[in-house]
Amino acid sequence: MRGRNPGEKSIEERFWSKVRRTNRCWLWIGAVGTNGYGFIRIRDRRAKRPPKGIPNDFIHLSHILAHRLSYYIHHGSIPPGKIVCHHCNVKICVNPNHIYSGTYSDNAHDTIKSGKNIGKNHWARKHPEKVLRGNDHWTRKHPEKITWRGVNHYLSKLSLSDISRIRSLYVPRKFSQRKLSKMFGTKQGTIYNIVNQLSYQSHVELPATHRQSKQAEQKRGRSEAV
Ligand SMILES: [Zn+2]
Repeated sequence: MRGRNPGEKSIEERFWSKVRRTNRCWLWIGAVGTNGYGFIRIRDRRAKRPPKGIPNDFIHLSHILAHRLSYYIHHGSIPPGKIVCHHCNVKICVNPNHIYSGTYSDNAHDTIKSGKNIGKNHWARKHPEKVLRGNDHWTRKHPEKITWRGVNHYLSKLSLSDISRIRSLYVPRKFSQRKLSKMFGTKQGTIYNIVNQLSYQSHVELPATHRQSKQAEQKRGRSEAV
């Protein structure tokens, strides 16, 4: 059998039956979602129409968040575009003095103030010496480990031979970037970057990928056999 019809009691009665007041926060003892906020069911998932007595503000919902309902009961409608935030940072708190309607950025500032977020409590702020930057960064110490640059990048459409051909063919005003871009099916800007060494900068010194070195080995083997 299904539970009580949510329409039997008024929404306020149901709200108060699920609140346990303490000296500070008024804690919600009803259902709590995975996001940590309390909520109240106001209509059956299968019911097409909302039960009677639901304020217009919530008529389109199947559940109301407990602190939003509390705001409605104590302060009236939630202003459009605003969210209901907690001063106390207790998600299940429904104390009307602890909640206010604010913007998303108000809420974010509250979170930062509470220290739950990053900010000064982040390990990188507490121990800046542990953050490896500049020449201590692994990409500076081991540039050979960066394999996703130039032709090895997964978005690269050009091969090593394309790059060297583009650089050798290009003659300003004679063999234009536009012509090259049509030849290789790229944008002119890509050609500009290639001929000006802005992209594929290190493709000559780039460590050969595993496949490339294998191919080179095979080639050497073949030439020796001949
Ligand atoms: Zn509170």
